[in-house]
Amino acid sequence: MSEKTQYYLDLEEKYGAHNYHPLPVVLDRGEGVFVWDVEGKRYYDFLSGYSAVNQGHCHPKIVQSFIEQSKKLTLTSRAFHNNLLGEYEKFITNYFGYDKVLPMNTGVEAVETAIKLCRKWAYEVKGISENKAKIIVCEGNFHGRTSTVISFSSDPQSTKNFGPYMPGFEIIPYNDLNALQSALNEKNIAGFLVEPIQGEAGVLVPDEGYLAKAKQLCEAANVLFIGDEIQTGLCRTGKLLACDHEKVRPDILLLGKALSGGMMPVSAVLAGDEIMLTIKPGEHGSTYGGNPLACKVAITALEVLKDEKMAENATAMGELLRKELKNLQSSYISIVRGKGLLNAIVISHAEKDAAWELCLQLKENGLLAKPTHGDKIRFAPPLTITKEQVMDCIRIIKNSLTILS
Ligand code: PLP
Repeated sequence: MSEKTQYYLDLEEKYGAHNYHPLPVVLDRGEGVFVWDVEGKRYYDFLSGYSAVNQGHCHPKIVQSFIEQSKKLTLTSRAFHNNLLGEYEKFITNYFGYDKVLPMNTGVEAVETAIKLCRKWAYEVKGISENKAKIIVCEGNFHGRTSTVISFSSDPQSTKNFGPYMPGFEIIPYNDLNALQSALNEKNIAGFLVEPIQGEAGVLVPDEGYLAKAKQLCEAANVLFIGDEIQTGLCRTGKLLACDHEKVRPDILLLGKALSGGMMPVSAVLAGDEIMLTIKPGEHGSTYGGNPLACKVAITALEVLKDEKMAENATAMGELLRKELKNLQSSYISIVRGKGLLNAIVISHAEKDAAWELCLQLKENGLLAKPTHGDKIRFAPPLTITKEQVMDCIRIIKNSLTILS
């Protein structure tokens, strides 16, 4: 560890809360699929800010929009109108085919908004008695870190000693249609909140047909299907939305992360009028939600995804990556799974820290990835990655695996 790197690690250790356990690398620059550390060493970024940097680091068009708008007007609050909010609302609702959008900032705020919206709809449209509405969620879910959202997490690390918890949620197993069907039979169910692929859980891809059938069951029960596409959306899995693989249109769609291409927190909740118009002035909001800088950046971030055919590239490069990972035939990789460029490997090794050790070695060899839940490593590079770069990464992964033998 160089003195320079150690200096930055020490600063964070001494002055920052210890709520993360990062790899010991200090980055100061990014471009496309690459990031550089303070020593000038270059790495492939195989995390992409948890899929916030789908368009690649510092995409020149998104940076340009950011710079131009930041010199003109950045924040008005929603007390006044601004000339970009309506343009953005028109653009994003047309882009995804919804009546209305409610703009927020972080992903978890979009989730919180969806929960409030779903409850409002349940009481005012569906006719559930006050305070009785329930939302079905899935085991292994990750929807963020607020006290409401962790209330329905099944991960003890997320919940322990953070109670009391918010009631009104029912957890069922993921990828289990029978469980969903029986949960839907209960009275007072307002919504089903689901990740089309469980990202944080280690890229768990449900069986083909699960989402389509789940949507059908929800429709039959007059229950809102809430698709959390914060990690899976925006071309990451090879389609604009992961739900598109099964032609499912969520009643409430949640977006975040790559909606700004990694520039700033921008999230969105999209829904039809019948749902969205249940929220009236003064009932929900956010100081920064819908700010002109975010609106401008999000329009460009969405344009770039289509103009540069990122979904198509994610499909092709994802297939190549999984094929080459399987071809390595490493006895330490027990599973290779994923869709598009949202992928994970599961490490099988006697040592419990093997996945962490492998990530340290990958870092030494110029590739940054992070374990999740102990033995899984997500491989999710920016969607701009080329074939040559994928093959270069495969060489790095192959060389790094020798550390485990
Ligand atoms: N929902 C999903 C599926 C996520 O993966 C995440 C973050 O990883 C969130 C919600 C929360 O987003 P944020 O960290 O921006 O609050």
